Order: sequence, then C-alpha cells, then structure tokens
Amino acid sequence: VKKQGKNGHRFYSQELDIQLMTNIELESDLRKAIERNELEVYYQPQFHAQSNRMIGVEALVRWNHPKKGLLSPGLFIPIAEETGLIFELGTWVLRNACQQMKQWHDEGGPLVPVSVNLSSQQFHQPNLVDYVKSILEETQLEPKYLELEITESMMMDPNVSISILQDLNSLGIRISLDDFGTGYSSLSYLKKFPIHKLKIDRSFIKDISLNNSDKAIVATIISMAQHLNLDVIAEGIETKDQLDILTKSDCMEIQGYYFSKPLSARDVEDSFFVPSRA
Ligand code: C2E
Ligand code: CA
Ligand code: CA
Ligand code: CA
Repeated sequence: VKKQGKNGHRFYSQELDIQLMTNIELESDLRKAIERNELEVYYQPQFHAQSNRMIGVEALVRWNHPKKGLLSPGLFIPIAEETGLIFELGTWVLRNACQQMKQWHDEGGPLVPVSVNLSSQQFHQPNLVDYVKSILEETQLEPKYLELEITESMMMDPNVSISILQDLNSLGIRISLDDFGTGYSSLSYLKKFPIHKLKIDRSFIKDISLNNSDKAIVATIISMAQHLNLDVIAEGIETKDQLDILTKSDCMEIQGYYFSKPLSARDVEDSFFVPSRA
C-alpha cells in the first residue's frame, strides 16, 4: 500500500516498484546502465568442503540503479533476454570477469577459475566462440581459468549443442551444467557432451536435512558424476547440517551463503586475499 510522502513511490517494495515500471522504461534504463557503467560483477567464492580452500568464484551481475539501488539479476536478466540486450550485457560481464580474474592472478590472488553464466541466446549466437576467444586474448586470462555455465534446457538440439561445446572446448575453457537436475532432458547426453562439471541445483539442497528423497537424489548425482569422471559442486548450502550431509555423500565442492554470499570485487579481496597487497 502506498503511503503519502514527498518521495511518492519510495514506499513500495523493490519488486512491486519494478513490476510497475513498464518493460520499455526498464529496457531504456538498462541500455543506459551498460553505457554508464552501472552494472557491477559480484563474485561468490566456491570452496573445498574439508580444507576450506577457495577453489573458484562465480560471476553474478548486479545493477546499481541510480534510483532503485542494487538490483538482482532475476529482475533484469529476463528483460535483457527479451530485448536482445543480453548480448551486450553478456559480453560486458564476460570481459569484466576475465579482466578481474587476470588482475587477481597477477596480484598474487588464488589461482582459481571464474565461472560465467551464459544465456541460451548467447549460447546459440553464431559468433560465440570467436568472441570468447577474443576476450581471452584481450584480457590475457589463461583459458583454463574460465568456466562457462550453461543449463540443460540449452541442450534441446543435441547436434547443435555438441558442436558448440566442442568449439568452446577447443579453446581450452571448461563447461559446467548449471541447475543440474531441474531440466527434463535425458541423461544420455552426459556421455556424449564435452562437459566438465555438474552444479547440483539449490532446490535439492534446501530441505536435504529433512527430506530423504532429496538426500537420495543428491547422493545419486554425486556418485554418477564420479563414475562419469565429472566434477560436481553443490549450490545453495546455508547450514552446517546441509554441509555435513553433503560431505558424507562425498561432495567436496561447495557454494552457498554458509561460506559466503556473492561479494563485490573489493570485498572478495578484503575477505579472502592474503594481506600482502595492502
Ligand atoms: P544461478 O546461476 O543459479 O546463480 C546462483 C544464485 O543463487 C545467485 O543468485 C546466488 O546469489 C544465489 N545463491 C548462492 N548461494 C545461495 C544460498 O546459499 N542460498 C540462497 N538462497 N541463494 C544462494 P543471483 O546472483 O540473484 O542470480 C540469479 C540468477 O541470475 C543466476 O542463477 C543466473 O541464472 C542469473 N545470472 C546472474 N548473473 C548472470 C549473468 O551475468 N548472465 C546471465 N545470463 N545470467 C546471470
Ligand atoms: Ca550459475
Ligand atoms: Ca545455479
Ligand atoms: Ca539459474
């Protein structure tokens, strides 16, 4: 409910506020956002469960909207996808993440890879491989330190997908299957596709301490990954309980609020780098 005040709509919640903006307004704001550098890449560290060692980071885009504050990607990625702005946004995120990673490596930060999310449209963009290659050359990041996250739904046309994945693979980068277990595709593609890692979706982790089916599904995914020689990481770990169940099931790689939320580049440095660069 809107309260009267000098700032009018300020009393709405962020979501409601965004819903009230038309897509056209958001689209034109987003177009300017890219030009005006209002986008920012946050990084969520990933950890080895037992050693607590950082093993990677996932790049997650944010929008510092001048009037609405920090917006989460769930609010604007869909608009970017509808309007075609996703290409420009996606290239911006990829370039930024590679630059940042290279800079961290040069400054003596942990030699870990960065994972970048790809939209379906980017995945099917004809010049994807060329522009990934040119960003790697431009930023001088070694390809083995870049991981691209795709989802099962992008694999709908197996022939097309295999050839895109092979081309990406030939650059020397790694591919992760994000939100694993939530799609409807057949498991047979796992043996055909050049994929390196499965990311177990948070929906299986959320109730894992209470729900035996979730526990069984997760244990099965982990064991399957091991038999297929794939890496596996669990997403959305928030509690010690969840962590314990996962490590008992032999899941070594963990991402979630229990260890760290996504952080600005500056906060990653402050929290996780050796204090030598101060
Ligand atoms: P995702 O790729 O599945 O990313 C994981 C999301 O889960 C992130 O939300 C992250 O902040 C959140 N998360 C991580 N750990 C926990 C936890 O322990 N508990 C809970 N409740 N959540 C956790 P975020 O950053 O809001 O991103 C949402 C989605 O937006 C991403 O889901 C991804 O699909 C998309 N996205 C983000 N950045 C990009 C991008 O640069 N390009 C594209 N195409 N999509 C992006
Ligand atoms: Ca992801
Ligand atoms: Ca995910
Ligand atoms: Ca997702």
